[in-house]
Amino acid sequence: MAKEYDVIVIGAGPGGMTSALYASRANLSVLMLDRGIYGGQMNNTAEIENYPGYSSILGPDLSQNMYEGSTQFGAEYGYGTVESIEDHGAYKLVKTDSDSYQAKAIVIATGSEYKKLGVDGEESYGGRGVSYCAVCDGAFFKNREVVVVGGGDSAIEEGTYLAKLASKVTVVHRRDQLRAQKILQDRAFANDKIDFVWNTNVEEILGDDMKVTGVKVVNNQTNEEKVIDASGVFIYIGILPMTESFRNLGITDDDGWILTNDKMETKVPGIYAIGDVRKKELRQITTAVGEGGIAGQGVFNFIENLK
Ligand code: FAD
Repeated sequence: MAKEYDVIVIGAGPGGMTSALYASRANLSVLMLDRGIYGGQMNNTAEIENYPGYSSILGPDLSQNMYEGSTQFGAEYGYGTVESIEDHGAYKLVKTDSDSYQAKAIVIATGSEYKKLGVDGEESYGGRGVSYCAVCDGAFFKNREVVVVGGGDSAIEEGTYLAKLASKVTVVHRRDQLRAQKILQDRAFANDKIDFVWNTNVEEILGDDMKVTGVKVVNNQTNEEKVIDASGVFIYIGILPMTESFRNLGITDDDGWILTNDKMETKVPGIYAIGDVRKKELRQITTAVGEGGIAGQGVFNFIENLK
């Protein structure tokens, strides 16, 4: 028999933990399921300087604080990779790799993952110069040289943002032209702090064991190798929504991002989505938390209306 809850929250990042807090504080029984430790992407973040209430806090510390808050009204945290959600109208069935659970409402908060280059140094210098988020980490590179990898909207938008902070931004792109919108390209080409290195792939991220010192690149037309000195490397070669298990529900766009209205409702009654997994502009802790509150209150209203 599947264990029953009022609400199952899938993903215990900042969004999911906030939904669990709101729903359990409204006296609903709540299970938060995660395939790893609670905290989500915050666990991969060294220092967070843009979460209100803290001038600076370590990601794992903020995760722990949020977890304690989110479980204080009885929400449970359980380990498991969710493999499917079945919508049976009055109830939803959630299957993990080892268990089944039933709930009246579901909040999907499974986040997204940055595509990786897969080169040496990328993992070992993560949080020590390698970043996937200029808004998060740009301030650590004031008056320093940085490399941006990619040629799409995110790479060029974030590269232009970084040029306000860094002394120099070098955009390394594997093609001979950008894919970004023309207006973003025009802005970047007009910015004398931004240089472009075309037809070039990143071979390795270099460092001195403590932090990044540069990037080894190779021209894919001439095979010429060179090293670009940099303290930071920002990688923007795409992000992937964590929605493979929910595609059957028909709640995503063609790229897999979940579509909701401003109440965080998907088109399936009783299934909500919040945080980075949604189609939206700004993927941050603050936005995930805000949406978590909206969905946590939303599931309460939804369940009240079932009575
Ligand atoms: P996530 O935090 O991604 O959590 C999703 C959770 O869902 C994860 O725990 C995952 O294990 C779980 N999950 C996924 N699929 C399944 C499944 N099938 N079954 C069970 N569980 C599943 N934001 C800021 O505001 N400030 C910063 O300084 C900052 N720095 C960052 C630095 C880095 C390196 C990165 C990667 C991100 C940073 N961000 C920062 C962005 C911020 O971390 C995210 O916007 C935020 O964590 C999104 O929250 P979320 O709850 O939507 O998802």
